[in-house]
Amino acid sequence: MVEYYIPKWEEIEEGILTISERMLSDDFVPDVIVAILTGGVIPAKLMSDVLGIKSMRYIDVKFYKGVNSRENKPIVRAVYVDNLENKKVLVIDDVSDTGETLDFVGNIIAMFNPSLVRTATIFVKPWSRKYPDYYYKVVDKWIIFPWDKWEIVRENTEAPVDKKERFLEILKKLRKNS
Ligand code: 5GP
Ligand code: MG
Ligand code: MG
Repeated sequence: MVEYYIPKWEEIEEGILTISERMLSDDFVPDVIVAILTGGVIPAKLMSDVLGIKSMRYIDVKFYKGVNSRENKPIVRAVYVDNLENKKVLVIDDVSDTGETLDFVGNIIAMFNPSLVRTATIFVKPWSRKYPDYYYKVVDKWIIFPWDKWEIVRENTEAPVDKKERFLEILKKLRKNS
């Protein structure tokens, strides 16, 4: 049985503010935020609003198929990146597990000649071989975020989330109609 960690919205806010405070005490204010799709989008939006950074880019890369099952190689679906030359870049994702995604995205970003690249995730797994420069908390369970709970329930209907019955009804209707 998979054990889950299910942060509430309150904890997400706490994480984003804590990371922002740490960046400021390092005098690090990025020019551009690069969000890793799709889990990094909401953390990146929150961070951009806290720091007042309007410039956002996106990289669509996927290593995972589902809870605890991984593709054996990275899948890059798209790179929505330009104008990073001589810019300070912050790469954001929701969580770093092995660290491969951040590593991989770091290599892609480097090709755009930024002056500095740092990474941030809200959570990191204790076994990660490369910790992000900024993170809020170390968690050793599978995390269900407010923004990916339905993705997780789709794959594992046993996942313990709120409002599951309504979602499963919607899913049933969708499947009947298709
Ligand atoms: P890594 O490449 O560091 O092993 O994995 C990072 C990516 O896998 C993240 O972008 C995230 O989408 C996904 N991931 C890793 N661990 C978790 C987790 O505990 N919960 C969720 N929801 N996604 C995870
Ligand atoms: Mg995800
Ligand atoms: Mg992801």
